[in-house]
This record gives sequence, structure tokens and C-alpha cells, in this order.
Amino acid sequence: MDTFDIAIVGGGMVGLSLALALKPSLEAGKSLVVIDPAPQPTEQAPHSPSFDDRATALADYSCQALEHLGVWPALSAHASAIDWIEVSDRGHLGYQVLDSQRLFNRPFGAVVSNTNLGQALWQQARTLPEVEWCFGEPVDRIDSHSEHQRLTLNRSRTLAARQVFLCDGGRSPLLQKLGIPLQQQPYQAMARIATVRTEQPHRGRAYERFTHQGPIALLPFGNYCALVWTYPERLHKRINAMTPAQQLDWLNQHFGQRLGRLTEISPTQAYPLSLVQAVAPIRHRLMALGNSAATLHPVAGQGFNLAMRSLMRSARYCNQSFAEGKEPGEFKGLQALAQSIAADQRQTAFFSDQLVRHFSSTNPLVAAARTLALGSLDRHPMAQKAFALASMGLLQNAPLSSAPLEVLPT
Ligand SMILES: Cc1cc2nc3c(=O)[nH]c(=O)nc-3n(C[C@H](O)[C@H](O)[C@H](O)COP(=O)(O)OP(=O)(O)OC[C@H]3O[C@@H](n4cnc5c(N)ncnc54)[C@H](O)[C@@H]3O)c2cc1C
Repeated sequence: MDTFDIAIVGGGMVGLSLALALKPSLEAGKSLVVIDPAPQPTEQAPHSPSFDDRATALADYSCQALEHLGVWPALSAHASAIDWIEVSDRGHLGYQVLDSQRLFNRPFGAVVSNTNLGQALWQQARTLPEVEWCFGEPVDRIDSHSEHQRLTLNRSRTLAARQVFLCDGGRSPLLQKLGIPLQQQPYQAMARIATVRTEQPHRGRAYERFTHQGPIALLPFGNYCALVWTYPERLHKRINAMTPAQQLDWLNQHFGQRLGRLTEISPTQAYPLSLVQAVAPIRHRLMALGNSAATLHPVAGQGFNLAMRSLMRSARYCNQSFAEGKEPGEFKGLQALAQSIAADQRQTAFFSDQLVRHFSSTNPLVAAARTLALGSLDRHPMAQKAFALASMGLLQNAPLSSAPLEVLPT
């Protein structure tokens, strides 16, 4: 049985980013195995379902982290900067424009296609030393032993790793098989994504339009806009059966004329939405990251941004432990690491959850309160800044290089 220092289960956005962030450990001779059921990526096709037709809004921190990981140079040519965010409440007066230059002197972040992100991540990851890539089969089983975790792959190969990071996404059954409890709150809503053409250029503006049916986001995406259209599950059959022209009619009615009319829509793809959080995402020598630890509503584009902060912190903890001759998989160390991530996760999950619940409420008192709150942001620059930061997943911004060492065991 081969034994590795680290195993990453899942080679999606989070798994590949984590592998890159572990580079200092690999350069110091530590071994890593990455396992994913998707076929081996190629330069053109990253294959993992992580890298499908979606676009991802990267907060400024994630762009900086990707720069730090050597991924940004290949990605930046395909990225569209987010200079403005406009938040509005359909049928009510609540409205707010957040100008990144005025608030921060730099863009809020950038939008990239998941395919481009996958290509750029793989291009860097495949050059890492000391990595065994196991594509084409899932991990079926994980058994805990005091010195390692034993991973059974689909075709009966067995591996051992002294530290396992579960980055297998929100749909994998491994967490449940491990007996890690999950808190689940289905939103009974769907997110439908597509690329749309608009009459007017987006000029770097991202729009978050809250409607009674759910938020509709349009993000700057090259010459187009990336659409994230959420609606209640009960409308799914009806919307699924719509022709592109009928979808455009619906969107024009609900989104309004901020960019003129929406004139073209690509084939759409829909995802069921729920808030799922692992209650304690660690075991001895094992930790869950990314969607496996927390799957959020896509409103305000928080999921990957939260995961990026968590994985950078986790990699720094591992790199530092190895450099000091310590075992990163010891439970106490992982527990302290998980605690340092938990506050960020709670806050981000709470923010996106409350945003969806309050903005979809038809209760007139709630509607009046949110109109007041949105309108008053202008008069409170600190509150406006906090809202802008939170809406970009930046309120808890983990520093890239100066580790908050007080939360890690010495
Ligand atoms: C519509 C929509 C829009 C979004 N927009 C944004 C946004 O703008 N900004 C943002 O920050 N976030 C956004 N998100 C969230 C973001 O997509 C997720 O946070 C991100 O995909 C999580 O990546 P992951 O690698 O953890 O999981 P996944 O993307 O699910 O990848 C999991 C990987 O694990 C592999 N795997 C599965 N099972 C196994 C197994 N048994 N063994 C080994 N490997 C396995 C899979 O093949 C896959 O490669 C959005 C989500 C949705 C649904």
C-alpha cells in the first residue's frame, strides 16, 4: 500500500487550488496524491464538474491568492473586472450602487469562466513536484487508523495518507459515510445559469436584483453578462419548458432595463440550492474544505471565495507544520485550524442566507426595513463599506502571507 504525506480527495476548484498552495511542502519533499473520478484534464478541457459552464465572481482576495499561486497570469486575460455593484429590490425603492474605486481604489474582484479557471489551475498544478494524480476513479471509502487514513478507490486500489483533505464537493457521500453530521436547509429554489447579451455594454457593473421569486444576478463577462437566475423550485418545470425567447421575456420583465433589453441567451443549466454545513468538518488526520464543508446559496458569489480563504489558511498551517517537523494531521492542530476557519464560514453563510431570506420576503414590514436599510447605506460610509465587503465575501479577509499564528498551536 502506497503511503502519502497528504491526500486531496477531489480535484475541482478547491482541490487543485489547495494542491498549488501546498507547493512549499512538496518542494521540501513531502508527497501528495490527488484523486478525482473525472478523466485526466487536458489543456483545453479540465473535465471536473467544477469547471462546467458557470462563471465565478472572484473577490479581490481570491484574485490575489490566485496570483500568489501563479495562476493569475494565465487567467487575467480572460477576467472581467467588477468595478461597480448595483443592488436593487424589484417593486420597492431600495437601491444602492457601490463604487469600488471610491470605496477601495481597486476593483471589487473579477469574473472568470469556470472552464478558464480550470485550465489555468491545471496548467500550474501539473508542474508541481511530488504529486501522483489519480484521475478516473472516486474514493469509495475512508477508514481511520491512528497513523494514517486509508483510502479505498473504486477499482480496489488502497492508499494511505497521513493527512487527508476532503474536497469532494457538496454531492459526494463520503462525509456521511464518515459519520460527520451535516446541517441541511434546502432553499426549495433553483439557480439557472447562462450567458446573455444585453443592448448596452456592462461597463464593469455587476447587478444583484432581488425579486419575490429570488435574486437575479448579471455579472460582467467579456462582451456578455453571466446570468445567475434563481427562482422557487415550484416554477422549475415551467421555466425548464420555456423557449429562449420566453426566458428572455421573463428576465426582461423581472430584471428591468438596466442594460437595455436582454437580447440573447445561451443554453441554460440549473442547480438545486441548499445551505449545507458540516457540523465539525474534521477527524484525526482529515479535514473537509470547499463545498464538502459548506455549500452556500450562490447569491453574492461567496462559495469559492470562502473556500479560497479556508484553503489558503489550511495550506499555510500544513506548510508550517512540516517545516517545523510536526505532523499536520494531529487532531489538536486540525481542531485549532478548523476553529480559525469556523467564524469566517459562519459569518459568510449567515450573510448569504439572511440576504436571500430578507430580500425574498413579501412581508410589507420586512420590505420597508430593507428599503430603509439599502437607502441609508449612502449616509453611512462605514456601513456601505461593510456591505460591499460582505457582499463580495471579504468581510473576514484572511491575510495571505502573515499567518494569524495565535490561532494555531505552537
Ligand atoms: C450557480 C452557481 C454559481 C456560483 N457562483 C459563484 C461565484 O460567483 N463565486 C463563488 O465564490 N462561488 C460561486 N459558486 C460556488 C462555487 O461554485 C463552489 O463553491 C465551488 O464549486 C466549490 O468547489 P469544490 O471544489 O469544493 O467542489 P466541486 O466544484 O463540487 O468539486 C468537487 C470535486 O470532487 C470530485 N469528487 C466528487 N466525489 C468524489 C469522490 N468520491 N472521490 C474523489 N473525488 C470526488 C468531483 O469530480 C469534483 O472534481 C456558485 C455555485 C453555483 C451552484
